[in-house]
Amino acid sequence: MEALILQDIQERSEGEGREYDVAIIGAGPAGLTAAIYSARYGLRTVFFETVDPASQLSLTPVIENFPGFEGNGFELLEKMKNQALKFGAEHRFENVEKLRKVSGGFEIITESGVYRARAIIIATGGKHRELGVPGEKEFVGKGVSYCATCDGHFFRGKKVLVVGGGNTAVTDAIYLKEIGCDVTLVHRRDELRAEKALQEELFKRNIPVIWNSIVLRVEGDERAKKAVLLNRVENREFEVEIDGIFIAVGIRPATDIVMDLGVERDPAGYIKVDRKQRTNVEGVFAAGDCCDNPLKQVVTACGDGAVAANSAFEYVKMMGV
Ligand code: NAP
Repeated sequence: MEALILQDIQERSEGEGREYDVAIIGAGPAGLTAAIYSARYGLRTVFFETVDPASQLSLTPVIENFPGFEGNGFELLEKMKNQALKFGAEHRFENVEKLRKVSGGFEIITESGVYRARAIIIATGGKHRELGVPGEKEFVGKGVSYCATCDGHFFRGKKVLVVGGGNTAVTDAIYLKEIGCDVTLVHRRDELRAEKALQEELFKRNIPVIWNSIVLRVEGDERAKKAVLLNRVENREFEVEIDGIFIAVGIRPATDIVMDLGVERDPAGYIKVDRKQRTNVEGVFAAGDCCDNPLKQVVTACGDGAVAANSAFEYVKMMGV
C-alpha cells in the first residue's frame, strides 16, 4: 500500500519545478504575513490555501481591533493575499495531505502534486468546535450553523440562538441582529468571556442573554425547530422555539498534519513554539492560532507570521542557500 502511495506521489511530482525555500501551510493572517515577509526576504515562497478549515478570519463579519483597518475579515484577508502575491509569493489552492522530512528539507504532498521546500511554516489555524449534543450533526445545514457570516442571511426576520460567551459568539450575535435576525445568546455561565467593548455593543442592542444554560439537544423534523436547554443553576430543563442555532464555542487547532514530522503539541493539540516560532523539529516553524501562544488575535497571528518568516530566513541562510 505504502509503495503504491509513493509511486502515485512520484508520478504526481514528475517533471515539475516545485522547489521552494519556504512553504507555508495555511492562508490566514499568520500564513499570509509569513508569505509577505518571506517573499520580501527574497526567499522562494509558496503558500497553500486549503478549504477545510477555512481561515477563521474569513468568516469574521466585523474587525475593529486590527490597527489601521476596519471592515470584514474576508476583505482584510484579500488585501493580505494580494500583498503577498505582489512580493512574489506563489499561491496554491490545494489541500495539503502530508508533510515529510527528506534530505535537505521537506516534501509537501498535496491532492495534486508534490512540492519541496527547505523550511516549512505551519499556519493552519483552527476549526470550530462542536457541542456534541443530539440533533447537532443531524441538523447541520438545516438550522444548525457554525458560521454567521455564511448562513446568517437565511435567517433574516427569524428566531435564532447563538451559543457561546466568547468574542466569536458575541460578534456573531451582533452581526445577526444587525442583518435583521431575532437573536438570543445562550451562555453556560453568568458572565461573558468576550472583551468589554463587544459586550457593550451586545447590551446596547438589547440582545437578550439566557445565562447559566447549556444546550442539551436540538430537535425538529425537516429542519431544527427547538433547542432543549438546561439551566445549570436551577437544574431546570426548558425549550426554546428556534429557526436556527449558531454554535460558537471556540476552536480546536488543526494540527494533525504535523504528526508525521514529530512536531510536539500540547495536550489540547496546539503546536509548541519558542519565542522565534520554532518547533522542536529543525526547519519547521509555526504561527498563529495553531500554536500554544497565549493570545489569539489577528494582530498576534500576523506578528507570529513575521517572526516565523524571519526565523525561516535565518535557517535557510544558515543552510548556505
Ligand atoms: P473562546 O474564546 O474559546 O470562547 C468559547 C466560548 O464558548 C466560551 O465562552 C466558553 O464558555 C463557551 N463554550 C465552550 N465549550 C462550550 C460548551 N460545550 N457548551 C457551551 N459553551 C461552551 O472561543 P472564540 O470566541 O471562538 O474565540 C477563539 C479565539 O479567537 C479567542 O482567543 C478569541 O479572543 C479570538 N477571537 C477574537 C476576536 C476579536 O478580537 N474580535 C473575534 C473572534 C475570536 P466559558 O466562557 O464558560 O469557558
